[in-house]
Amino acid sequence: MHRSMAGDWTRRQFVTGLAAAGVVAGGGVRAFGQSTLTGEAALRELMDGNERFIAGKITSFPEDLKILKEKTVLKQEPFAAVLACADSRVPVEILFDQSIGHVFVSRVAGNVVTPEIMASLEYGVVALGVKAIIVLGHTNCGAISAAVAAKEVPGQISVLYQHLIPAIKGAKGDVPLAVKMNAAYQAQVLRESSTVIAKAIKQDGLKVKSGSYDLGSGKVTLGD
Ligand SMILES: [Zn+2]
Repeated sequence: MHRSMAGDWTRRQFVTGLAAAGVVAGGGVRAFGQSTLTGEAALRELMDGNERFIAGKITSFPEDLKILKEKTVLKQEPFAAVLACADSRVPVEILFDQSIGHVFVSRVAGNVVTPEIMASLEYGVVALGVKAIIVLGHTNCGAISAAVAAKEVPGQISVLYQHLIPAIKGAKGDVPLAVKMNAAYQAQVLRESSTVIAKAIKQDGLKVKSGSYDLGSGKVTLGD
């Protein structure tokens, strides 16, 4: 464990103070204090957390949640964002061993980039200053399986299909491959279709990667 909550908070508060005083220059679009991590370091923090989770050595639960909550009532300064499936077996904060205020999480079945999801992640980048985004698919994804099988579904469920079609076509009926291709495709959509995210990648070193979560082993593997 390399995090020191006390030190971390002191640094964050310091940076927040500078930002409030208008001292922090550069982006011009950001509202609050920010994580000082680089994109690479933000990705590494998530992957280190996943290693702790796999090893059964979670450190986020023993953190003082009361203090953490008090510190985050008025503001949040997450260092990363994750777009994950709504699946109940993909608890994002737990599997990355993160606690309150650390990760900005958007979830929707099939982890697809809809306009609302893109808007949410753009807010995470511009207003909160996240340094990395992972689009996280997972094994045995029901949304992907249903889309591959082109099942008839009631209500609005099929609305998700249109977003899954590019990956489904590319995977040619292979569900595990479709999961990986979909996460990679959605990450690409974020990188290329969001002017806000494209700009942050270029100017601020924002990292946008796909990842796949293995329900059995608990391991996250990064992709494109
Ligand atoms: Zn799923």
